Amino acid sequence: MSDQSVTDWLEQRPEIDSIFACVCDLNGSMRGKRIPVAQAGKMAEGALRMPLSVLNVDVWGEDVEKSELVFETGDSDGLCEFVGRPLSPITWNSRPTALAMLWMRQEDGTPFLGDPRRALAAVVDTYKEMGLTPVVATELEFYLCDPELDRPQAPRSPVTGKRLDSDGALSVDELQHFDAFLNDVYDACKAQGIPADAAISENGAGQFEINMMHVADPVRAADDAILFKRLVRGIARKHGFAGTFMAKPYGDRAGSGFHVHFSLVDENGVNVFDNGGEEGTELMLNAVAGLLETMQENTLTFAPHENSFRRLLPGSHAPTGVAWGYENRTAAIRIPGGSPKARRIEHRVAGADANPYLVLASVLGGAMIGIKEKLTPAPAIKGDAYDLNLPHLPMDWATAIDAFKRGQNIQSIFSKRLQTMFVECKKQELRKFALEVTNFEYHSYLEVV
Ligand code: GLU
Ligand code: MG
Ligand code: MG
Repeated sequence: MSDQSVTDWLEQRPEIDSIFACVCDLNGSMRGKRIPVAQAGKMAEGALRMPLSVLNVDVWGEDVEKSELVFETGDSDGLCEFVGRPLSPITWNSRPTALAMLWMRQEDGTPFLGDPRRALAAVVDTYKEMGLTPVVATELEFYLCDPELDRPQAPRSPVTGKRLDSDGALSVDELQHFDAFLNDVYDACKAQGIPADAAISENGAGQFEINMMHVADPVRAADDAILFKRLVRGIARKHGFAGTFMAKPYGDRAGSGFHVHFSLVDENGVNVFDNGGEEGTELMLNAVAGLLETMQENTLTFAPHENSFRRLLPGSHAPTGVAWGYENRTAAIRIPGGSPKARRIEHRVAGADANPYLVLASVLGGAMIGIKEKLTPAPAIKGDAYDLNLPHLPMDWATAIDAFKRGQNIQSIFSKRLQTMFVECKKQELRKFALEVTNFEYHSYLEVV
């Protein structure tokens, strides 16, 4: 979006009062400022400044170790540029507002490589140099909860007022109950240019999934996912619920995933995974092999928090092992059936809590390694992956951080700067987490008489 188009866009919407000017941090959260609309000119010129460290999630606070990456530069500012997407109207705030998506460059004009959006754009550019464009669709699962309790509970049905306690995979009644919420979600998606497709009620009580349509622009698909998560949470609040994309808000219900479907098209728009049959092309198998090869190293981007690892359980429809299969939802990589023209890979490892830019960069970057090195995958599995003796995904957060830090392939996908920043940011979060004592420990071990 050019300076002029920002100004024009705002002129046509005199009701807009202020703008959230945001970059996306490494955890996939938007960070930024609320700007009165009269000050939008400075932002439109790309002159808005924020410390580069804002991408690093949390570098302030007494309990956080001093971050070398931040302090070695005196915690300098970066410049925030428009990403080229029209402003996104926010209709659920108390006054009409808009969100401006920005990304970071350094004072010398070069892109800031620690910005996760830059990381994905770099992977997509390399595909372009190879004459290929990734076509991507994402699936986002989330829960609506009752916000009045300190722990998540399924929300009360807006129709009966009763708390939902039954599982409702593909329940049309549940969709019907939440009709008013879903109407607002679809209206907001339309206003923000987000290509929302089908909504379903998912397995857990209060759990939903909305799929996005395929787009031949992975960076846009990640932008859409980021904006979608914000609008679901904002609209849920307006309807008296809390919306959450936490990977496993309830120990005893399904987790929330972020599945990624993708294919690659050549310069003639032909899907290079389509061999006219069920199996897919050699090139698709190379991509699958690259995904398997890099999966353990990249698990941190798919499961970035302590809570993420609660989701990756046997029998949960979320993967535990490194494997692929045709039409197999127990495998980390599923090749869906259907028309050969639509032959694609479904990557099922990421949780809904993951950063969409980093997930797509890991998936597309991993596939690219397999394509460039012409790797061959182990045979496709048949049957229940949870019963097979497969190489395991990292079992916990600390192991995943270490695997990302030491991974042989990480620097073929990400810049060294992003790798170091992400590891540092996760280690800080892990240290903070380690200071918490759980209720389970008090109940089991305190032994106060
Ligand atoms: N909720 C599952 C997950 O955590 C996925 C269920 C499905 O196949 O859609 O990934
Ligand atoms: Mg699902
Ligand atoms: Mg899926």
